[in-house]
Amino acid sequence: MKIIVANWKMNGTVDYINDYFDKFLSNVKIVDSEVIFAVPYVFLEHIKKIVKNQNIKIFAQNCSHEENGAFTGEISASMLSSMGIDGSIVGHCERRKYGENYEIINKKIKILTKHNLRSIICIGEDDKEHKEEILEEQLEKCLYGIENYKNMILAYEPVWSIGKNHNLDLEEIDNSIAIIRGIVEKLKFEELKILYGGSVNKNNVREISAKLNINGVLVGRDSLDPMNFSQIVNFLE
Ligand code: PEP
Repeated sequence: MKIIVANWKMNGTVDYINDYFDKFLSNVKIVDSEVIFAVPYVFLEHIKKIVKNQNIKIFAQNCSHEENGAFTGEISASMLSSMGIDGSIVGHCERRKYGENYEIINKKIKILTKHNLRSIICIGEDDKEHKEEILEEQLEKCLYGIENYKNMILAYEPVWSIGKNHNLDLEEIDNSIAIIRGIVEKLKFEELKILYGGSVNKNNVREISAKLNINGVLVGRDSLDPMNFSQIVNFLE
């Protein structure tokens, strides 16, 4: 079973969403996979109402590490849970850029788990030369003090591969996935599902899935096109 995540980032309008799911749902054939749409907060409820397929889950793209209180503009795990949302991405590199660190990401994972929500935890180096130590530090910090990881998915997203148009260095990425599998095994998280994210598209998904030892993919840009994203899902199915 593959997990295929769409990260829409800050994109979409109500009209776009209606048109998107008309096209996506009539083209996609999901039998065994799980497809997750991580969408802007304001559209969570609307999308939940129009998507009735059991294999499609709706996630937020972030959630607060605090329970509730004076945190203007933040959204809590209990709010997401009360709306029937399935989980959230945490620690995306576009958020780490603005100061979110792995101590905070660890709190986010714990608070999501406490509210029975799932988390997609993003890790990934920005500096290839120090890849191994960076990945080890990120994983140790974000998994610290966590015992039950059944609601957690890891997404390896090397910062240098996100939002690019050139060919992916699959040798390098394959090596990183092997390093990550070694670290999670050492930390006793050996069953943790691992996705790859960074410039996945309908043209390279075949090569990626053939080369990498992964449980699925996380797609940014190409998930915004319903025809392209349905092709990716149908291929991995
Ligand atoms: C992302 O930002 O998580 C991502 C994978 O983006 P893209 O597919 O556009 O590189």
